[in-house]
Amino acid sequence: MAKNKKSTGCSAVEQQYRDLMRRCKANLEHADRELPPARENFKETLAARGLSRRDFLKWTSLTTTALLLPPMFRPMVAKAAENFSRLPVVWLHFAECTGCSEALLRASYPNVDSILLETISLEYHETLMVCAGHQAEQCLEKAMHDFAGKFICVIEGALPTGLNGRYLTLGPKAKTGLEMAREVTAKAAATICIGSCSSFGNVQAAKPNPTDALGISDALGIKTVNIAGCPPNPANFVGTLLHFLLFGALPPLDALGRPLWAYGKRIHDFCERRPHYDAGEYVEEWGDEAAKKGWCLYKVGCKGPYTFANCSKVRYNDGISWPVMAGHGCIGCTEPAFWDSMAPLEKPVAEKTVLGEHTLDKIALGLVGVTAAGIAAHAIASAVKGQKPDYSDKK
Ligand code: SF4
Repeated sequence: MAKNKKSTGCSAVEQQYRDLMRRCKANLEHADRELPPARENFKETLAARGLSRRDFLKWTSLTTTALLLPPMFRPMVAKAAENFSRLPVVWLHFAECTGCSEALLRASYPNVDSILLETISLEYHETLMVCAGHQAEQCLEKAMHDFAGKFICVIEGALPTGLNGRYLTLGPKAKTGLEMAREVTAKAAATICIGSCSSFGNVQAAKPNPTDALGISDALGIKTVNIAGCPPNPANFVGTLLHFLLFGALPPLDALGRPLWAYGKRIHDFCERRPHYDAGEYVEEWGDEAAKKGWCLYKVGCKGPYTFANCSKVRYNDGISWPVMAGHGCIGCTEPAFWDSMAPLEKPVAEKTVLGEHTLDKIALGLVGVTAAGIAAHAIASAVKGQKPDYSDKK
């Protein structure tokens, strides 16, 4: 075999992709046999919503790249998109504001991501389903029975664990959120936490956290995929489900359970204001001349240098804008405990977190007006690139 590879000139990376391709094809065939039939024809749905084949091919190409796959995977990404409506999903709501559901459902005009989310096979979703009470409970039991081991459990909201979970009860039998989460996740193929509440607890777990709210993984002691964000980007949720449909497995995760393809880089790495950061050009206070010129928001509290997410690349509202583009610094909403440690501070937090006494802020200040500012700031940024902030003194 090794000889073969050498003689055909096939590199180790090419071989890896071929193996991945074989795995992907086998999984798509398996899905064709095992998943329930599609409720609607995806291509017809796209056409009915005014999207052409060209639009779909463009989306396929962008999504393949976003998932860090080479172009040869495009036909398979298209096939996975066609299978999207066949993947049963049970969506649970715990302590939250339903902002994540809102973010996923409200698109200003139809794009492929939003249409995929509209066709998703939601077997149970308390906010959207028509039935209520006992009838709703029957829907949940039926979904867990019919699709045992095959459905994806999506959870929106943190779990209050105080008083043995009795701060949050649901349904006609007043089950605690803890009971319901244990029951449903045990039968699911995988559990995806949508938003920072279910991922890490978020505002419910902010000090003084009277209900002892926790993220799902901490509350149940299970592995979850965390699509962090407040709210998260719909593209990250769609991409994660597509990855599951492509490979029959969830994507590689970082230490906090976030998919690496979407949360592997810092906001700061792809920010359009980054050249101003490197040049030492900062907004000093809201509304000043620098703010009008679109300079860097680091000194008025942007947490982009400590926040791992793809907002600056993918953006929100169909790619139109994102908070930093609109003029407000990143609040670090994809990081654990951001509500206590980062969001309220309209000043840099570098002093305590990233570089110790040689902080980004102090170094940047010293470099303002110096010709070498850009080069040096690049060097500093490279030194911290890939490091995650240590919040241990803030918990
Ligand atoms: S500090 Fe914020 S505004 Fe400045 S470059 Fe980084 S992410 Fe952009």
